[in-house]
Amino acid sequence: MLRYDLHCHSTRSDGLLSPADVVRRAASRGVDVLALTDHDEVYGLAEARAAAEELAIRLINGAELSVSWCDITLHVVALGIDPECAALLAGLTRIREGRVQRAKRIGDALAAAGIENACDGATAYVTSERLISRTHFARFLVETGHARDTRDCFSRYLVRGKPGYVAHQWATLDEAVCWIHAAGGQAVLAHPGRYKIDRARLRELLGQFRDLGGDAIEVLSSSHTVEQFTEFARHARVFGLLASSGSDYHGPGESWVDLGGMPPLPAGVTPVWQDW
Ligand code: AMP
Ligand code: MN
Ligand code: MN
Ligand code: MN
Repeated sequence: MLRYDLHCHSTRSDGLLSPADVVRRAASRGVDVLALTDHDEVYGLAEARAAAEELAIRLINGAELSVSWCDITLHVVALGIDPECAALLAGLTRIREGRVQRAKRIGDALAAAGIENACDGATAYVTSERLISRTHFARFLVETGHARDTRDCFSRYLVRGKPGYVAHQWATLDEAVCWIHAAGGQAVLAHPGRYKIDRARLRELLGQFRDLGGDAIEVLSSSHTVEQFTEFARHARVFGLLASSGSDYHGPGESWVDLGGMPPLPAGVTPVWQDW
């Protein structure tokens, strides 16, 4: 049985390893099929592909798109995309430009809470001039002693109701699915167990995603508990969606689950890779 890891990050977004190092680490950990899925970015895929060609590992072109749905932020993983698709590239550029504006507002919000120069401080952690994320703010807040680690940081800052949170308008769910399909890829709702919505709204989300043409949900994610593996396997069956699996690895010391660290998919679901 092949080992799949279809969600991880490199220095082209908020990961700590270069695209080539992510591929090498995945191969050394027994991953057979890897998708690199940087936030709103496909720029690392060429480097990752060059590394994969020297190793016994298959690379799937991916990305993780930021989406606003009602009043929450969702992530949609794209798998098997053409990284040169003009519609997708234009959409990703628009999302990344929004990140620059948001970073300034996060800096202002942290200054209002007494933390000065956070935008410059976060920028010092940026590893791709094309992308700034809350993770870079988190690393700055840890460095300056405002939080123990990034996890602690995300419970005390940068999230709704806490200092440094700002609302932001990302792409719509419809746009994200359309861009991914225009690029010939599959649209996968990332870590559905992480969204702070009740059961009724979760069902509404899954139904809408499916009706918009969404292909799959992440049943296995490092964001999920073992109980959620079972719960989302059931949702995949009920909603007629394929099942995906990904570690969401960001780098040594920042992720609980390493590359290739998810268990096999539960029985009774159809894997997103069934026709690959
Ligand atoms: P952004 O897309 O800039 O809003 O940043 C989202 C990123 O922040 C996620 O992809 C994670 O890397 C990180 N993040 C969000 N919540 C947490 C958390 N509770 N613990 C650790 N990292 C988190
Ligand atoms: Mn991230
Ligand atoms: Mn995500
Ligand atoms: Mn991710």
